[in-house]
Amino acid sequence: MATGDGHGCDARLEASVRSFPELLLQVGESLHASLVVDDQGRIGRIHSTLAVAAGWGNGVPPEGRLLEEVLQLFPWLVDALRTALTGTETVSEGGERDRWMRALVLPVFGNEGQCLGACARLSERAPAKPGPAHQARLEQELTRTQRQYEDLLNTIDGIVWEADVNFRFTFVNKQSERLLGHPPHQWIQDPDFWKKHVHPEDREWAQAYCMKASRERRPYEFEYRMLAADGRVVWLRSIVTVLSEEERPLKLRGIMVDVTEQRMAREKLEQTASVLRATFDSIADGVVVVDRNMRITAFNKRFQQLWQLPDEVLETGTKTEKPLAAALHLVKDPERFAARIHEVYALPDLEDVDTVELADGRTLERTTRPQWMGNTIIGRIWSYRDVTAEHQAREKLEQTVSLLRATFDSIADGVIVVGRDQRITTFNQRFQRIWRFSETVQLENLDALQAVTAAAPLVKDPERFVSQLQKMFVLSDREAVDTVELRDGRILERTTMPQRMGDTIIGRIWSYRDVTEERLAKSEQERLFVAERHARAQLEESLAVLDTFLNNAPIGLAFLDRNLRFIQLNDALATLHGNTREQELGRALRELAPHIAANVEPLLSQVLATGKPIIGLGMALEVPATPGQLRHWRVSYYPVRTTSGRLVGVGAVVVEVTAERRAQLERERLLQEAREAIQTRDDFLCVASHELKTPLTPLKLHLQRLQKKSASGQPLPPDFADKALVQVDRLSGLISDMLDASQLEAGRLELEREPLPLQEVIHEALEAFRPVSLQHPLEYEEQCTEALVIQGDRERLVQVLSHLLENARKYSPLKGAIRVTLTRNGAEAVVSVSDRGIGIPADQQAHLFERFFRARNAPISGFGGLGLGLYICRHLIERHGGRIWAESQNGLGTTFRFTLPVEPAPPLHGRA
Ligand code: ADP
Repeated sequence: MATGDGHGCDARLEASVRSFPELLLQVGESLHASLVVDDQGRIGRIHSTLAVAAGWGNGVPPEGRLLEEVLQLFPWLVDALRTALTGTETVSEGGERDRWMRALVLPVFGNEGQCLGACARLSERAPAKPGPAHQARLEQELTRTQRQYEDLLNTIDGIVWEADVNFRFTFVNKQSERLLGHPPHQWIQDPDFWKKHVHPEDREWAQAYCMKASRERRPYEFEYRMLAADGRVVWLRSIVTVLSEEERPLKLRGIMVDVTEQRMAREKLEQTASVLRATFDSIADGVVVVDRNMRITAFNKRFQQLWQLPDEVLETGTKTEKPLAAALHLVKDPERFAARIHEVYALPDLEDVDTVELADGRTLERTTRPQWMGNTIIGRIWSYRDVTAEHQAREKLEQTVSLLRATFDSIADGVIVVGRDQRITTFNQRFQRIWRFSETVQLENLDALQAVTAAAPLVKDPERFVSQLQKMFVLSDREAVDTVELRDGRILERTTMPQRMGDTIIGRIWSYRDVTEERLAKSEQERLFVAERHARAQLEESLAVLDTFLNNAPIGLAFLDRNLRFIQLNDALATLHGNTREQELGRALRELAPHIAANVEPLLSQVLATGKPIIGLGMALEVPATPGQLRHWRVSYYPVRTTSGRLVGVGAVVVEVTAERRAQLERERLLQEAREAIQTRDDFLCVASHELKTPLTPLKLHLQRLQKKSASGQPLPPDFADKALVQVDRLSGLISDMLDASQLEAGRLELEREPLPLQEVIHEALEAFRPVSLQHPLEYEEQCTEALVIQGDRERLVQVLSHLLENARKYSPLKGAIRVTLTRNGAEAVVSVSDRGIGIPADQQAHLFERFFRARNAPISGFGGLGLGLYICRHLIERHGGRIWAESQNGLGTTFRFTLPVEPAPPLHGRA
């Protein structure tokens, strides 16, 4: 086939050319040619008669020899053929008188216009003779030849035609009707006949191709499809010759041969070949085919890959040595491999399978068989398959199987497998032992029922046992578990399930396990379980009771484990830590109340370490529940032990004793006070009796002398009464102090207050004091100009001043000056009384104004006192809204000062 553009279908053109000699023969045959030669003049076919006539009847084939060699006897025919090979058809005659021959010699052209060969059709005739008769005979002969020629044309198995340059047919032989169903007249009458009947797909290119070839005036040949009258598609090979004159194409002449069948066969062959090629390249096996000359005729990619052969080593047509040498490097045992290959080659018809181990760990399976063509061995096919994975898988499978077998033999279950035919296929040793089969008994392949019947006497209920098994032996998919009791007391648990292969049940598996121990243990366990449940119920009851007590106890209770975490405690205790019970459970005291833990944990640890309790320990602590408040506790810690004596923790009992403690302190305080009061009273009585007795003794003496004098009638000394009165004054002073003190104590002392110039009060006191203090110089200094008026009780204020003056006198040596000052300090008047006497020890000064207080350094006799004076003074001054205090240095003297609020000054005009 050829295409119009002459590009895309080069391959197809080439194919046509390759097949041309065959075509040449075919053309020759269709022309009934006696001789066909190729373009070189070599004989392609020669009719046997002609061959014999030419002297080639001796069995030597003339085919393939040059025509000059073969046709030495027929030089005229050689000339005609050589002429035809130059492209010119000729008619030539020659021969001997009695054997005159005539030859029609036609050139056959290729589609490139080149001459491909020539055909000669020979006919025998009488030699020519001159004269009219000869002329008539010639004409007659010509007519006959023409008819013969026409007959020839019509009998050619092809459409012989002639057309003008526009493809209008001028002649078509009768074969046109036979091959395509279109009678010749249709071809000739319709000017577009050819165009119309070319297959639409070929129409365009075929027309263009023909036009181009015609223009170039070269003969051509191509294949295309035409539509037959009945609609068939017919493949035609068209051979066309362009007849031209003076460089102009005149007509076309050609022959169309039906190549449909050939075409179909070729396509089919090509398809098959391509399928085979694709298959060859895509199969998993690496294949190489070697011919009998040890050359590689074919190999696939897989082969190249498997043997890692580069392209330059493996080429079609090369000898096998190179690739074999390269492959040997890969093989683990190259010598054996090579030897094996040579062995195979030595036996051409051997089919062989072998395994090749490669150095890189791969395993190849090698198959080889002879390559046959018909009955002849033309080579050998070697095929290699990588079976590494398969090998590994098989090895693994074998391992698994052996592992399974080992497992099967070592499991505690006695297993037996029964096949479809009810024969034992597998069993393990354990099965034999359970059922007391001797190890010598051959169980495999034994009828299962026979085995069961043999074992049945071991069972408590053998009949039931056998019938059960019989039922189950059928190939059902039932799975079941039950128990079998044996006479010897053993209990077997029996499991049965179908043995499957894929979805098919191929047998039944029976497995027996000795569960005697297990069952016994289980029933024991159940008994224990009931007992335990009972005990637990009791325990829970006890715990509930305990919990109620624990929680409602008014004291803190807790149980701590060895890590000092609360395992149990009551709300009373948790509340102290400022938490709830739930918050504290499981936690340690140091997390909850670090401050308490610092005091308590050492004690708890001590109990854990010694195993000895700490009982009734007093403790004073602040707790988070009541910050800032010191509370008192009595705590006890007990070691807690299990019945086996193991120390598991500490029990704590915490009792609050704050109220008791307070009551006790109060009692102690009151007792102390009472003691002190008694002491004070005793002291007072002692002092008071002494003080009261002191003036009484001289008074009694005076009165006794008075009695003696008056009895004797003697005159009384002038100061006698005065001295007695001094003692009486002293007594009454003591008594009035006592009275004042008791009134103050009872809150019954009344003041009679009036506006008083303070200077007046001081003067009055000083005037009264002067006579009694003759031994002590008395100084008075007023540092204010105006009268300082106060609201006061004149008598009481004089009493205060007199007492201070009296003390100054009492506690000063003779001649010790006494100094009184009056100053104003803002709204207050400040009065001071100073002496240079014994002073007061610093530590005693704070108590000066307390009842019954007498300083350590105050002499017991001489200037007695009840320790009430300053007490009364303080009360009187404070009742006047003032303050009183003392400043003293031991041994150097004392100054008492008191203040009194001064009345505001009256307006100026009031004074005038
Ligand atoms: P008494 O009547 O004992 O003097 P007071 O109340 O007047 O009682 O004085 C209490 C005590 O204060 C005295 O016993 C004395 O120890 C001390 N005291 C008071 N005034 C002076 C003073 N001027 N110098 C030294 N000690 C004094």
